[in-house]
Amino acid sequence: MAETSIYETSYAQRRRYPRPDQVPQTDIAIIGGGLTGISAALTLAEAGRRVTVLEAGRVGAGGSGRNGGHLCQGWSSDFAKISRQLSAEDADIAWQTGMEAVDLVTSRIQAYDIDCEVRFGYLHAALHSRQMRDLDDEQAEWEARGYTHFIRLEGQDAMSDHIGSTAYVGALHDTGCGHIQPLKYLHGLAAAASAAGAVICEDTPVRSIRRGRTKTLVLDDGTEISAPTVLLCGNAYLADVGLPEMKAKLAPVTSSVLATRPLSENLVKQLLPTGAAVADCNAALNYYRIDADNRMVFGGRASYSNVQFGDIEADLRRRMAVVFPILAEAEAEQVWSGRIGITVNRIPHYGRTDDDIYFVQGFSGHGVALSGLSGKIMGEEVIGDSTRFDVMSSLLHMPFPGGPLRTPALALGMAWFKLRDRLKL
Ligand SMILES: Cc1cc2nc3c(=O)[nH]c(=O)nc-3n(C[C@H](O)[C@H](O)[C@H](O)COP(=O)(O)OP(=O)(O)OC[C@H]3O[C@@H](n4cnc5c(N)ncnc54)[C@H](O)[C@@H]3O)c2cc1C
Repeated sequence: MAETSIYETSYAQRRRYPRPDQVPQTDIAIIGGGLTGISAALTLAEAGRRVTVLEAGRVGAGGSGRNGGHLCQGWSSDFAKISRQLSAEDADIAWQTGMEAVDLVTSRIQAYDIDCEVRFGYLHAALHSRQMRDLDDEQAEWEARGYTHFIRLEGQDAMSDHIGSTAYVGALHDTGCGHIQPLKYLHGLAAAASAAGAVICEDTPVRSIRRGRTKTLVLDDGTEISAPTVLLCGNAYLADVGLPEMKAKLAPVTSSVLATRPLSENLVKQLLPTGAAVADCNAALNYYRIDADNRMVFGGRASYSNVQFGDIEADLRRRMAVVFPILAEAEAEQVWSGRIGITVNRIPHYGRTDDDIYFVQGFSGHGVALSGLSGKIMGEEVIGDSTRFDVMSSLLHMPFPGGPLRTPALALGMAWFKLRDRLKL
């Protein structure tokens, strides 16, 4: 089964950004051509900075070109985990910043005229009463801070307007979230960054960095690129150049996605009549949506050990059939997997070193909107507006227990949460 995503195969005509013939002269080198790196490049190029993106594969080779396409507002953890670490003033900055995540995507879609199949409407769906209570708490917390996009749905009657499934007891319908074709969005940003003067280089892996006032980035063929400032934007795909303080605080989790062949208009109307994307509230959640070509794009099957046991397609199909029995035999067009970077507290981990290396990682499954926002915040920091970067980088992050064995330790820990979800506790 192909490991390339449906986005890559259905958007083969996307622009190429060749590896440069000459060593680029640059002030800021960005490692990673995903949403974080490209967003940072756009922010910096528009501010008139000389910026170069170095991407090991093609733009979108990592999570940004292989995710579920769900566009989620706010931070990826309970906001209380953030606010309790901050003064009231800084907590407000963090809250407003999180609330910009989706707005930034929509404003960039408009500003750069990006055709990325954006659609609004989202169901945060509860499988049992404890999850419904958790959603109620979230609604209360968010509304107290001024969020006005939730509509509470409880029971089959209320749910049936949005979803043709009996799997859920209720949901929060969120009109502030939605879904996109992520690779088209990313390429729209890349085109805008390039037009603003950013140099983007594909097939350009950085193998090491020699540190100092000016950093020297060594490519796979030994070519050296000098830059005073470096941004590490590789998240769960960062290879060779991660800092020790980053590695201990990030765990990669493998998630897989199945895209069916296009479904009939009638069937689509039965399954998801309002076109909302859906994510359930389990620790190892299912997330799905209908794309612009009427495919069901169904993700889930988180592997915390990153070992892929069994038949991924069969397992995703089984999960999909639990929600929509009518899809038990639906033909798969493509199945693929990718690495999600998570932190212990599910808050993105921002940081900088004394010698001007900046990083952000660990969007914990909410990166479609948060990574672009974080890239912009990194760009602001480099330009000289540190307000938001300072607040976010002041948040504490615990290393995952287990040191080099942190992935098995995480898998063990998650087994408890999966069991709890299965028992509906
Ligand atoms: C299967 C899956 C489903 C997901 N679903 C969703 C979803 O529905 N909604 C959501 O919000 N989030 C989702 N996510 C998470 C989201 O995709 C990520 O958080 C986001 O794309 C991270 O963007 P990024 O730019 O930081 O990293 P990436 O997009 O991973 O980009 C990092 C890039 O760095 C490059 N790189 C690494 N090391 C080097 C090096 N040494 N030299 C040069 N280049 C290098 C890699 O090649 C890669 O292209 C999902 C992720 C996966 C894998």
